Amino acid sequence: MSKKRLNTAFITDKGEFGYFGGGIIKLVSSDEAEAIKTRLGPDMLTVKTSLDAFARAQTTDPPIGEALLSQELVSGIGNVYKSESMFIAKIHPLRWASAVSAREYERLFNWLQPQMVKDIKRPGKMITTTREAAKAVHWNFVYRRYHQNCLLCNTKIERIYQGAGKGRSTYYCPHCQPNTSLVQDLRNNLHRSSQPNAKM
Ligand SMILES: [Zn+2]
Repeated sequence: MSKKRLNTAFITDKGEFGYFGGGIIKLVSSDEAEAIKTRLGPDMLTVKTSLDAFARAQTTDPPIGEALLSQELVSGIGNVYKSESMFIAKIHPLRWASAVSAREYERLFNWLQPQMVKDIKRPGKMITTTREAAKAVHWNFVYRRYHQNCLLCNTKIERIYQGAGKGRSTYYCPHCQPNTSLVQDLRNNLHRSSQPNAKM
């Protein structure tokens, strides 16, 4: 364990573990912990199917970029995997989580799960810490590549802020990840305004 990067260490009667590069840690009671657990989606590293996430998405309606990070659909996805997986699956981060199709969730999961299982076995696994660690990762398409060219289509990579307090950066390619929710919202609005008693 690299002491240089260690932020907080926990020593309990069941063992020791560390927390790297973390921000705020809140200690909660057992009851509060249980309440939090009920809000969490299935663990990304053990989940067998994307259908669980798809079913949960139908009951919640934040943008997909926020839903992935909030751990509601599945748990375990951090900020780097969030941006990269949406790029691989060609999903715009502002699309409603409930408007993402089962097939698109499948694409997201088919990349995320094997990648995360592989990465967790590798020491120094995250790309944001050292230059050496970044070099070891071969799937850095969008994260921290703001205004650099997309490796697939040469469009400039964009960055927006999402999540609680809108403090977490999301990177995406506007060409490879079109925002089809905008088209859907427009269609819905046109449909509504064409109804005889529609409220504007
Ligand atoms: Zn692109």
